[in-house]
Amino acid sequence: MLYNYHTHCHYCDGKGKPEEFVNEAIRLNFHSFGFSSHAPIPIANNFAVKEEDLPQYVDEIRELERQYPQLPLSCGLECDYIPQITFAFDYFRQNYHIQYIIGGVHLVAYQGQLWFIDGPEQEVYDRGLQQIFHNDIRLAVKTYFYQLFEMIEREHFEILAHFDKIKMHNHNRYFTEDEAWYKNYIFQTLELVQQKGMAVEINTRGIYKKRCPDFYPSAEIIKLLYQRHIPVTVSMDAHAPEEISLGFEPALNCIREAGYREVVGINHGKMHLISL
Ligand SMILES: [Zn+2]
Ligand SMILES: [Zn+2]
Repeated sequence: MLYNYHTHCHYCDGKGKPEEFVNEAIRLNFHSFGFSSHAPIPIANNFAVKEEDLPQYVDEIRELERQYPQLPLSCGLECDYIPQITFAFDYFRQNYHIQYIIGGVHLVAYQGQLWFIDGPEQEVYDRGLQQIFHNDIRLAVKTYFYQLFEMIEREHFEILAHFDKIKMHNHNRYFTEDEAWYKNYIFQTLELVQQKGMAVEINTRGIYKKRCPDFYPSAEIIKLLYQRHIPVTVSMDAHAPEEISLGFEPALNCIREAGYREVVGINHGKMHLISL
């Protein structure tokens, strides 16, 4: 059993045409598949789809859905939340017939500046922490989580993306995941997610890109998700066709070990549960 709904093709910062992803998914006998390009952001950037390209993105995926009936396809977006900057997530759903949304924070806003916590370069994280937060890691982490909480409270989306990605470039240098103040933000996230009834992704990208030794969120947190009956799905966050299944099996094992007997799937835009 294989699926992946968190993928980036050439429309945003990924490599490869949508059809190449579909062919690879069929070759690997996927149960279902989805595209989640980075949604347009009204600031200069080199990773999101341009708004003028969105109709073509949607049309191309819809056409593939017709051409390849053996693979249930869905057309989604990974939406960024930046207070006072990004479009409401529903804007895309209503105007471009987007079927599902993965919500995440990659750019942390503080006093008019943006701290980029993602991407391959640790220096970018360190420089932002120093220039924007004067190396006050607790303030930086708090700002990240408050922005995440605001997104969960205000926006309408199906899946929460890599919610502890703030740890990625940390590598236990500024804090460890077992510190009480940090864990408190994790607990608060779980509380909010549970209230909202959304699903959380278990993202494997850090492991196969060797940027982080654990999933987003970490295996310890997956146990807490299970205790709170929060539905989960596995995401590879693939940026190329050859990445679509990387880390799926270990993530599924981890989910099983936590106690889960079903995961969230998406079939032609409809959320459903898949038995493990
Ligand atoms: Zn992301
Ligand atoms: Zn992504």
